[in-house]
Amino acid sequence: MPQFPMRTVLGGEAVGGLLDQYRDVTPRGTVEFLRRLARQVEGIRMLNVNSTRTGGGVAEILQRLLPLFEELGVKARWEVMAGSEVFYRTTKSFHNALQGTKQRITAEMYEGYLECNRDNAKRLDLDAEVAMIHDPQPAALIDSRPRGAKWIWRCHIDLSTPQPTVWQFLRSYVVRYDAAVFSLPKFAQRLRIPQFLIYPSIDPLSDKNRELTAEAVNRSLQGLGVPWDKPILLQVSRFDRFKDPVGVIEAYRLIKKSHDCRLVLAGGTAADDPEGAAVLAEVREAAGNDPDIHILLLPPTAHLEINALQRAATIVFQKSTREGFGLTVAEAMWKGKPVIGGATGGITVQVIPGETGYTVSSPEGAAFYAKRLLNEPDRLAVMGRQAKEYVRHRFLITRHLQEYLAVIIQLCRGAR
Ligand code: UDP
Repeated sequence: MPQFPMRTVLGGEAVGGLLDQYRDVTPRGTVEFLRRLARQVEGIRMLNVNSTRTGGGVAEILQRLLPLFEELGVKARWEVMAGSEVFYRTTKSFHNALQGTKQRITAEMYEGYLECNRDNAKRLDLDAEVAMIHDPQPAALIDSRPRGAKWIWRCHIDLSTPQPTVWQFLRSYVVRYDAAVFSLPKFAQRLRIPQFLIYPSIDPLSDKNRELTAEAVNRSLQGLGVPWDKPILLQVSRFDRFKDPVGVIEAYRLIKKSHDCRLVLAGGTAADDPEGAAVLAEVREAAGNDPDIHILLLPPTAHLEINALQRAATIVFQKSTREGFGLTVAEAMWKGKPVIGGATGGITVQVIPGETGYTVSSPEGAAFYAKRLLNEPDRLAVMGRQAKEYVRHRFLITRHLQEYLAVIIQLCRGAR
């Protein structure tokens, strides 16, 4: 976690706080609005529960959000559930089934899941006025909700085509919550409890997104062995078929016929993921020995490198054929890059065709729009600026915080 300067208090007004650092990057009035909103829930004890302290988007956003909640006077705690390897295998199967991949879940697996939730209910401190329970792993903790507490089920996964039996099982717990929060409208389900839509967000002050000097970008690129001598086309994503890295290479080859450029495909190491390794092998084969294609395997801590690549890129692709939200899109747009993305999932709420990028459904489409932007640098620059403003107003962590506060206020209004 980055170190933030200490708060100082002048005449009762806090200055130099963490939240104040967001003043320069968020729309005017954001910080004041947050402070005013938070007064309604000042001193409230809030609990978050998920299944991992590090790794993955949920942990990342909690790490960034909690200090902001604290500064706003919300006493936010974070508990992490513990489970055996069998439990995590089961919840991985749940996850896949809920995201639409058929899985066989046995009665013992359901029972093991519930037993682990019961054990965690005894171990974890669930005492809070309001709790946000993240994703399916801890969902059955609702059995142990303290009397009077308001519990929110925060779903971060794609529930648009769940395997019915698994969803019915989970649903029987979800409907006992006071509300559910989904990340995209199409993920919402028929439920008899209030549902809220809250888009994910990026933190403009994190290492992944903060400003970098041109020298720092240059140094990072040198370290990665990517010359910055011609336009860079970039896709950052896991080596996963749904991210269509091979389609990006096909698009690059079409572009290359008329524009000299480099393609960088940056993704995580795939050693522990057999499917990732297979996709990586396909990508390597498709790339052949083209010296202008750079396939980079980055460790999960390579935030500054990804930041530098996104800043160095001329155009960023996210040519997914299926996508949850697609944080890489907001990350690139925040750096003033138009994004050419697959017309799927959350990409369609971020990429406004002709304004912040283009949505496509084929390598030919991706190449067509990339060439158009390379031919028209003025259009490219305007779209990049629009992309950044779009993210500033919709996809920054401060908006996320505002919406969480609004849900808490709504639920706790009668209770307090
Ligand atoms: N990411 C990363 N290293 C990689 C690939 C991706 O740090 O090698 C980051 C990326 O910058 C983004 C997140 O992982 O913050 C991926 O989120 P996204 O919603 O785009 O896709 P997901 O992987 O969740 O499907």
